[in-house]
Amino acid sequence: MDTTLPISFDDVARAHQRIAGVAHRTPVLRSRTADALTGAQLFFKCENQQRVGAFKIRGAYNAIAQFTPEQRAGGVVTFSSGNHAQAIALAASLLGVKATVVMPHDAAATKRAATEGYGAQVLGYDRYREDPEAIVRALAEERGMTVIPPFDHPHVMAGQGTLAIELIEEVGALDVLITPVGGGGLLSGCATAARHLAPRCAIYGVEPEAGNDAQQSLARGEIVRIDTPHTVADAAQSRSVGRHTLPVLRALVDGIVTVSDAQLVETMKFFAARMKLLVEPTGCLAAAAVFAHKLELRGKRVGIVLSGGNVDLARFAALVA
Ligand SMILES: *Cc1c(COP(=O)(O)O)cnc(C)c1O
Repeated sequence: MDTTLPISFDDVARAHQRIAGVAHRTPVLRSRTADALTGAQLFFKCENQQRVGAFKIRGAYNAIAQFTPEQRAGGVVTFSSGNHAQAIALAASLLGVKATVVMPHDAAATKRAATEGYGAQVLGYDRYREDPEAIVRALAEERGMTVIPPFDHPHVMAGQGTLAIELIEEVGALDVLITPVGGGGLLSGCATAARHLAPRCAIYGVEPEAGNDAQQSLARGEIVRIDTPHTVADAAQSRSVGRHTLPVLRALVDGIVTVSDAQLVETMKFFAARMKLLVEPTGCLAAAAVFAHKLELRGKRVGIVLSGGNVDLARFAALVA
């Protein structure tokens, strides 16, 4: 174990105990058609069927559950394009903590409504002009709230990794594990779990072509910031990886590949038509890389994270039309 990294396998294992009975143990699905198309054995971990429709409840609950009584009294504040927002709102309400969420004005209507539905206060910002981190920092100072960011926090990262524990427990050691990458919370947590449970497993992240900041950051060994990318993968529009996620990605991840928006849409169609699954564009990143043959997977046992399923039906229809 590398003790210089911000999270260890024990952190992920403890998170897994903390979220038991709160987050769903999501199903792992197979598809003969997908296996035939790729020549690999694919195991799809279906976090589109998770509570709040994405894996983010894992990290959010793991973080708020560790608040001190003082932090619980002050409440939690965060920024998010949607899925983390809903996760913080639900986790906070389950734990009796007040939540405030700073969300882009153009966030999906379903995401905003769901966040408010869980009892959180939602404040809007312009995702192409304003810095949500600064808005949140100011709110935290003024109102004594604790910031739980969407990815760059050890408790969030450890929580996200719990899905890799479940996946490997269920299907056995994998040759390859592939997850989407936004800010790297999901990938860093999953890599930490997989490296421990299946030491020979290769670990890859996939991000949108329009915003390959994680790929650039790994190549340079330092955080590369980009402008907010224009992509259908709205849950992976982060402008950079984090100072906590980058060292874990550097230590444990074998590579980052990218896919186009068109490949994401093709993959969304595949899941709907062939597997009867509603997967949001960002949730298709890992699978799209596999279907587009971005990695050499023939004959391998491959875990693929379908990270979320939150897409307005009207938007889904427009994308697949
Ligand atoms: C947040 C999110 C991601 C990206 O996760 P990071 O931890 O930011 O890398 C991918 N897919 C979905 C559905 C998400 O909500």
